[in-house]
Amino acid sequence: MLSNLAARDVETLIHPYTNLATFRETGPLVLERGHGVWVYDSDGRPYLEGMAGLWCTALGYSNEELVEAATEQMSRLPFTHLFSGRSHDPAIELAETLKELMPIPTSKVFFTSSGSEANDTQVKLTWYLNNALGRPRKKKIISRIRGYHGVTVATASMTGLPANHADWDLPLPGFLHTACAHHYRFAEAGETEEAFSARLADELEALILREDPDTVAAFVAEPVMGAGGAVVPPAGYFAKIQAVLNRYDVRFIADEVICGFGRLGTWFGSEALGLRPDTLSFAKGVTSGYMPLGGVTVDEPLYRAMVSQSAKLGTFGHGTTYSGHPVACAVALKTIEIFRRDRIVEGVAEKAPHFQARLSALAEHPLIGEARGIGLIGGIEIVADKRTKRQYEPKAGVAARCVAFAQGEGLIVRFLAGDRVAICPPLVIAPGEIDTLFDRLTRALDRTAAWIAAEGH
Ligand code: PMP
Repeated sequence: MLSNLAARDVETLIHPYTNLATFRETGPLVLERGHGVWVYDSDGRPYLEGMAGLWCTALGYSNEELVEAATEQMSRLPFTHLFSGRSHDPAIELAETLKELMPIPTSKVFFTSSGSEANDTQVKLTWYLNNALGRPRKKKIISRIRGYHGVTVATASMTGLPANHADWDLPLPGFLHTACAHHYRFAEAGETEEAFSARLADELEALILREDPDTVAAFVAEPVMGAGGAVVPPAGYFAKIQAVLNRYDVRFIADEVICGFGRLGTWFGSEALGLRPDTLSFAKGVTSGYMPLGGVTVDEPLYRAMVSQSAKLGTFGHGTTYSGHPVACAVALKTIEIFRRDRIVEGVAEKAPHFQARLSALAEHPLIGEARGIGLIGGIEIVADKRTKRQYEPKAGVAARCVAFAQGEGLIVRFLAGDRVAICPPLVIAPGEIDTLFDRLTRALDRTAAWIAAEGH
């Protein structure tokens, strides 16, 4: 029997990324409050938030300083905008702060309210740039199978997951996908990580040549793939990919929506993994998820092109009502202040070896084919046969079942396509809480194994 709130939910809400058929029976998990890395449901039951919400609540829940920053800005100036040259001090100060932090040459910052809008802006700016440069054919965007970049028409086209394409009439023409850099799943027998990376770079080059380099504008990638399975790239991957991009003058967009703001033990994932993108997208961690905010960096050549186009066209025709919302900017400024003062990024680097050791140990579990991560992010893959890497039938829903068992154990983790489970706790998680997380996940895996045996999958 669904509780009253749950029953009202089922009758009224459409939930994103939810199986709307089974949801009618299972109903929602209604969360009511949070503290530290813990959230509490409407019956007062605690859960360790092993996903930082949706990869975003870096500073955990109940951070009073963030609440105060929002409240102060709410009462001073809850809204103004950046259209037609209007401005406000939180946006100016945040743009200055972000320019200092960026690991790549950054001339300006453009704000959005989400990761999808940030990546959508990247597509539009790429097209705009190439029109300004007098190369109107150079417009195609390459992303990767299992990459995740958002849900707008353009960013869902970039996303490389079947659920974002089937029945949505996507991807749009001009959005191409290259191979997924998941060594465990896609390497050939005996192929080293370096050799696999070289093969993928060759495949990318072949795709660019087949399409005609004069038509290929940009390549977009997450440093560590998030929704595609929390996948760490194989050795040498980005160096080899970047060499190809340089050869054909293809713009490199790093999607730092998950990896930005400390997740890998560096401010940006690009630093940890040696990416040298032309521009990056950020969101999520920039406000610790407390307010919706995202954005993109604008490099000097792009900025110059934007100014010259504006001179011709009269206006830069892009932006939303909430681009650079003052309350979101104030919360982001406070988030970054706390990150610096409390050495949050350094703390991730210090805690990562313990987190990764507990993660790697899961590979010993009979159900786990791969357990791999970096910093405070990791993914595990459930397999039916560890030797052949054979998976269970997708309809058995094994990873979904494991995540449900974890919830029963008081742990929130997330299942992803391909029977993968992601782990991405708030960055402020304490070492003892890391142990609690993995103890509970191990119990959930044991219960999953017992369930598989009983069901005969
Ligand atoms: N890029 C990446 C890497 C993401 O993980 C996400 C969200 N999970 C997005 C883009 C889209 O962000 P949003 O949901 O804020 O639109």
